[in-house]
Amino acid sequence: PLKGKVALVTGSTSGIGLAIARTLASNGADVAVNGFASPGEAAGIVASIENDHGQRARHFPHDLSDIAQAAALVADATSTFGRVDILVNNAGIQHVAAIDEFPDEQWHKIIAVNLTAAFATTRAAWPQMRDREWGRIVNTASTLAFEAETRKSAYVASKHGILGLTREVALEGAAIGITCNAICPGWVLTPLAKKQVEAKAKALNITFEEAAQKVVEADMPTRRFIDPSEIAAGVLFLCSEAAKSITGIALPIDGGIMVT
Ligand code: NAD
Repeated sequence: PLKGKVALVTGSTSGIGLAIARTLASNGADVAVNGFASPGEAAGIVASIENDHGQRARHFPHDLSDIAQAAALVADATSTFGRVDILVNNAGIQHVAAIDEFPDEQWHKIIAVNLTAAFATTRAAWPQMRDREWGRIVNTASTLAFEAETRKSAYVASKHGILGLTREVALEGAAIGITCNAICPGWVLTPLAKKQVEAKAKALNITFEEAAQKVVEADMPTRRFIDPSEIAAGVLFLCSEAAKSITGIALPIDGGIMVT
């Protein structure tokens, strides 16, 4: 269904983004992969997408903590593939600390990567999407776009912010064929989440498995972590022709967190 489309997925060298890149490629899109990776890892990811799904893939190492790099990422992906039809703003980082101990540097970096970069890539991709009267923008938010959790001030602010940006972009794109939606994952056991589980294990002096179990029991009504492929399936739907009238929504894929 995505044959002939080009998808740019930020933060797709790991976790949720990698699953999104694979799913879009398996449905016919060429993919621009972005995120940190050694040259060997990046080559491995690109080769496996190309071999498994028969689509073109390229890795772009742009650092999204820099707004100029975020714009350059769209320009470079466009010159490599000729176009960007689907933009998935997925790169995200976390830092956990109490408000009075939260470092300036972490605040700025989290806002830059989780929020400002999504604005910059959207602005850069806008003219070509408008000219073709077709565009799909999906932002990876979180259940923390709706609720707070202690010690996550920058992350919670960035995720509330990306939801506001999503609604704004949806409104500006609605009449010109561009949709913009957010997905709101609950706990997915990626490197980002593992770091938090490890910290919990250390704080409570228990094993990683015990800490993971506690997280699931405390937070997830389904009593299990979500698989990255489940998040990717939601993104795929929002990028489909069938979803052309769905814009400005926040889709929870969260194992029931939002109903508690
Ligand atoms: P991850 O750590 O596995 O992947 C993050 C990706 O972003 C990596 O590819 C990394 O290289 C990239 N990245 C980080 N900083 C970057 C930068 N400055 N420039 C370019 N790329 C950068 O994490 P994940 O869990 O897959 O997270 C993906 C998204 O999902 C994030 O926006 C995160 O906030 C969100 N999310 C995750 C969970 C969860 O439980 N894992 C829950 C809700 C939302």
